[in-house]
Amino acid sequence: MSSVTFEKATRVFPGQERPAVDHLDLEIEDGEFLVLVGPSGCGKSTSLRMLAGLEEVDDGRVLIGDRDVTNLPPKSRDIAMVFQNYALYPHMSVAQNMGFALKIAGTDKAEIKKRVEEAAKILDISDYLERKPKALSGGQRQRVAMGRAIVRSPEVFLMDEPLSNLDAKLRVETRNQIAQLQRRLATTTVYVTHDQVEAMTMGDRVAVLRDGVLQQCASPREMYDHPANVFVAGFIGSPSMNLMTLPLTDDGVRFGDSVVNVSRDTLKQVSDSTAVLGVRPEDLVLGDSGVPLEVDVVEELGSDAFVYGRAMIDDVEHSLIARVEARTPPAKGATLHVQAAPERVHLFATDTGERIS
Ligand code: ATP
Repeated sequence: MSSVTFEKATRVFPGQERPAVDHLDLEIEDGEFLVLVGPSGCGKSTSLRMLAGLEEVDDGRVLIGDRDVTNLPPKSRDIAMVFQNYALYPHMSVAQNMGFALKIAGTDKAEIKKRVEEAAKILDISDYLERKPKALSGGQRQRVAMGRAIVRSPEVFLMDEPLSNLDAKLRVETRNQIAQLQRRLATTTVYVTHDQVEAMTMGDRVAVLRDGVLQQCASPREMYDHPANVFVAGFIGSPSMNLMTLPLTDDGVRFGDSVVNVSRDTLKQVSDSTAVLGVRPEDLVLGDSGVPLEVDVVEELGSDAFVYGRAMIDDVEHSLIARVEARTPPAKGATLHVQAAPERVHLFATDTGERIS
C-alpha cells in the first residue's frame, strides 16, 4: 500500500496548444479511495494514464509512496488497472485471465491458484472460474476484471470508468460492491468517472477537473456544502444548484424582497456590483411570500419532486429548480413563492467565479 502524489504533473499532446493536464497537484493518501471526476475531455483519463505510465509526463512528477515513478515503465510501478472494456483475453478461462499477470511475473502455480481462488471468493465468481469471458454477463466480466487486479495485490488500483458498460441497476449495485471491497482491502485507489453521483457515493475524496485544471479536491460532503467555485457548484449535485447573478447591496445579495446577508468583510473583497448566488434546489423554501416562481415542468421521482420554473428577479428572468413535497406536487402553470434558506446559500464572485462565502 502507498500514497500517490502528482506534483505539477503536466501533459501537452503534440500539436495541442493547451495542456490536457495542467500542473496537477494532488496527494492521495495511503489506502484512500480518490475519484477523479469532470466532464468529457477534462483530463481524467490522461491523469490516470500518467500515473499508470501509459502517458508521458511533460512536466512535473508522479510519485508512488516515496518512489518517483515519472520515468518508470508501467510494469515497474506496482499498479493494477481496471479498464472500461475490461480487456479480458477471450481465449482464456476466467481463472487464466485472473492469474495471467502473476504467471508472467513468474509466480509459482500453487500460489497463483491460491490467490485466484481467494479473489474469486471475495468477488463471488468461484463458480465461473473455468468459463470463457464470452459465457459471462457484463456484471460477471466486470468482476473478473476486478479479480485480475486484486490477485496482484498491487500498491495502487487504477480504475477508468469500470462501470460504464453496465445497466443502471447493476451500476448502482456494483459501485457499492467496489466501494466496500476497496475499504476491505484498503488499497489506495484512483477511480475515474464522468458521473458525479458515482464520484460522490464512492470516493473518500473527490477531485474535480476542468480543462485539465484541478478545481477542488475534498470529501463529498465538503464539496457539496462548500464548492470552491461556480463550476464545481454547478457540476456537483443533481439537479444542479441554482446560480443567479444578482445585485449586491450594502448588506448582501437581494433575492426578490429579501436580502441574503453577507458580512461586511466579505463584501469588501468584492469589486463588482453583482455576485453569483447559489441555492440548491432543496434550499429553496416554499412559502406564502418570496420570489414568484412560475412552474414549467414537474419531475416526479417518487421520493422527491422537482419543479423547473421561471422567476423574474430585478427584471431579469432566471430559470430555477426547487425540490417540493413528492406527494403534493404543484401543477404546471401554477405560481409558487420561494425564498432562499439564508444559512444554506453560496456566494461566488461574478468575475472569477470563486467562492466568496
Ligand atoms: P472522457 O471522459 O471523454 O474520456 P477525459 O476527461 O478522460 O475525457 P482525456 O481523455 O484525458 O479526458 O483527454 C483530455 C484532453 O486531451 C482532451 O481534450 C482530449 O481530446 C485530448 N487527448 C487525449 N488523448 C489524446 C491524444 N492521444 N492525442 C491528442 N489529444 C488527446
